[in-house]
Amino acid sequence: MDGRVRLLGAVDATTPSITLVEIGGAQLLVDCGVPAGGATDWQLPEEVYDVDAVILTHAHMDHIGGLLDLLKSGYSGPIWGTRATLEISRYLLTNSLRGNGRSADDTIAFAALYDHLARALPYGQASTPVSGYDIKATLWEAGHLVGAASIEFQSPASRVIVSGDLGSTDSPILNGFHTAWNQDRAVDFVLLESTHGDRTHPHDPQTADTQLEQVVKQTIANRGHILVPAFVLGRSQQLFYQLRRLAESGRIEPLLMAADMPSGLRLNSPAARFNLLHDKKSLQPIAAGDEALDFEGLFEQRHGRNSVRLSELNQSTVIVDGAGMGAGGRFVGHLKELLPKPETIVVLYGHQAPGTTGWLIENAIESRAAGSMSTVRLAGEDVLMRASVERFPAVSHADREELATWLDALPGVKQVGLHHGTAAAQAEFTDWYRHRNQAG
Ligand SMILES: [Zn+2]
Repeated sequence: MDGRVRLLGAVDATTPSITLVEIGGAQLLVDCGVPAGGATDWQLPEEVYDVDAVILTHAHMDHIGGLLDLLKSGYSGPIWGTRATLEISRYLLTNSLRGNGRSADDTIAFAALYDHLARALPYGQASTPVSGYDIKATLWEAGHLVGAASIEFQSPASRVIVSGDLGSTDSPILNGFHTAWNQDRAVDFVLLESTHGDRTHPHDPQTADTQLEQVVKQTIANRGHILVPAFVLGRSQQLFYQLRRLAESGRIEPLLMAADMPSGLRLNSPAARFNLLHDKKSLQPIAAGDEALDFEGLFEQRHGRNSVRLSELNQSTVIVDGAGMGAGGRFVGHLKELLPKPETIVVLYGHQAPGTTGWLIENAIESRAAGSMSTVRLAGEDVLMRASVERFPAVSHADREELATWLDALPGVKQVGLHHGTAAAQAEFTDWYRHRNQAG
């Protein structure tokens, strides 16, 4: 192998994902994230400032948030990703600037530079990430989020694959991760995510459906709301899909969906425009990079204006975060108002990264079970939590069986490195995978 892979973050934690791939003489940065939950004294590692190109696996802040500082420092190389990844990233990053009180001029300048550097790449098409080097990079579907990719690098001397975050293969709205790898050339090094390397998810959609059905019925009976501390794209879409399916089969009454966008709370009637994003066929062109994501089109405008107030909602509503900033922003306002109410149900859909709002709520529930008072610290304030919490773990990240399936599809792997998981999850996955292969 003519280079090395260096972890600049997510070494024995799930965030921030920043990986330096040195191959064929070039320095390529895979992802440029920030720690989930926003540690204030955190800084990007020095090494990122000298890279020749950035390649993004997907648009979660723990993979892209560092681009704000990187671009501010004068970075002028290309930023590669699928079109969906680039568009969602642009939305989240500019929102984050606005949310941090930066001026409109700053946000416009960032967006202009970002647009100048962004290079969209469809799945499966090899490209030269840095001109003048004999290196090819190819993005392959990862099944974790719209546009999410694994990255394959090839130089004359090496073949290196970075998994990116891998999704669960039973996602109803995303295609599963890529397994049809070219078998002609052995893989020198694989960097594999290990978020859920220590567990096996229940792969039974009926159990999840029954759980969600009960959540909805209880919410409607109590005239409460459902809060989902997750960004409107990705796992929230999967939740909306599951809700719509339950409503269509008559198991629940249709609910209103709302996303809190920077412009205010946007409502969506359940059977209407979300259809656009609700089946694999319509998602494919987006994920393949042929079509832009239209955030404005996601939400209907009601009451003759863009947004409504929470107090104006006279029926039970599912509220998700439309800004994707986790512990900050408008969504926290709803949490402060609704968490103290016992009729509220918080749905934790998928993995809650340490430091995020969902993670804080998950921890609060555990301390409540142990008998102590349950409060959640949100934007500097301790908020009493009387709401109930429902967890749906089998979303967003591949479990160890799925990680093994992904790994087994690669030919002649010489070395595997793990990242994006706790030290315990990595050790457990390593042990489990060895035993499994010895037994098999
Ligand atoms: Zn992710």
